Amino acid sequence: MRALDYRRAGSAEEAVELVATHPGARFLAGGSNLVDHLKLGITAPGLLVDVSRLPLDTVEHLDGDHGSVLRIGANVRNSDLAAHPVVRSRFPVVARATLAGASGQIRNQATTAGNLLQRTRCVYFQDVTTPCNKRDPGSGCSAIGGYGRYNAILGASDQCVTTHPSDLAVGLAAVDATVVVLGAEGERRIPFEDLHRLPGDRPEADTTLAPSDLVTAVELPMGPEVERSTYTKVRDRASYAFALVSVAATLRLKDDRVDRVRIAWGGVAHKPWRARRAEEALTGGPLDEQAVRAAVDEELAAATTDDETAFKVAMVRNTTTMTLLGLAGEAAR
Ligand SMILES: Cc1cc2nc3c(=O)[nH]c(=O)nc-3n(C[C@H](O)[C@H](O)[C@H](O)COP(=O)(O)OP(=O)(O)OC[C@H]3O[C@@H](n4cnc5c(N)ncnc54)[C@H](O)[C@@H]3O)c2cc1C
Ligand code: SF4
Repeated sequence: MRALDYRRAGSAEEAVELVATHPGARFLAGGSNLVDHLKLGITAPGLLVDVSRLPLDTVEHLDGDHGSVLRIGANVRNSDLAAHPVVRSRFPVVARATLAGASGQIRNQATTAGNLLQRTRCVYFQDVTTPCNKRDPGSGCSAIGGYGRYNAILGASDQCVTTHPSDLAVGLAAVDATVVVLGAEGERRIPFEDLHRLPGDRPEADTTLAPSDLVTAVELPMGPEVERSTYTKVRDRASYAFALVSVAATLRLKDDRVDRVRIAWGGVAHKPWRARRAEEALTGGPLDEQAVRAAVDEELAAATTDDETAFKVAMVRNTTTMTLLGLAGEAAR
């Protein structure tokens, strides 16, 4: 049996201090991912610092130094985030991505920060009897040559080929969110795209955060122009399934041409994959099926697949095309 201490943090500063001074300590929010890992023996932190009672549970519209933003507290529950009227009206992509994750019961428990920082669902990561570089650095990667249906096709390394599981993270990648973090040196802001990392030769690190960095909020820029946005998730069954492929997209048309498009993919990489090449290829041109397929193929030129993952290329192409043409149709109405 392993000893496990528990402390409830009275303030964000105290939470950071506790984790910074106790090596291996972890923040506990909704617990829906971390507690599973304790039970499975994937992690043994020694100290859990409960941050779930910190007053980081509001969604607010702020006009300040960082422009006009919708600030989502780290402890906002997934169900409250998806139901928030401003999120639903201005950021449907975020509301729909959140609703696409887990079940109603889990969304009532899961928090914004916890969802973004949940760990991979790779079956080998979750099975402590198998080698896994992410769980046990240097032990090997059982997914290479193993069960690979959920593996990455972009940005993987020979150390780790898993994908990031969060739907919300894909939605936030498509709206240029900013993550607000309180660390030992004070507060800092991270562009969402820089929060998660590709595996490289350090697959054990999912993000660019230090262990004692506490996410306090996520901010969504609220420009004057409202864009169309949505999220499409393809999965093996209608509920309780992680994405095989997902697409988050925003679209603004001017004179029937693409003025701004943002595309993020889930289920294809170790992090939400912002399809910048495809966005560039589409900007300024018409939004039709041929253009979207060509743009997606430009992005996918870097993809590597095997027998298990080859289907994802067509799935990404078709899902992105359907999603963007759907948005363009709405814009035309
Ligand atoms: C059956 C099932 C199906 C699911 N299906 C989906 C799905 O389809 N899509 C999807 O996206 N998710 C899915 N999930 C995952 C679920 O969304 C996550 O478990 C949940 O979002 C994690 O949030 P939490 O608040 O419970 O996090 P916790 O378990 O409390 O924490 C998760 C991680 O975040 C860290 N953390 C928490 N808060 C902070 C903070 N403020 N700052 C820094 N670190 C922090 C913790 O230390 C821990 O490492 C599923 C889960 C289950 C059990
Ligand atoms: S893909 Fe990554 S998480 Fe899965 S077994 Fe390999 S190293 Fe572990």
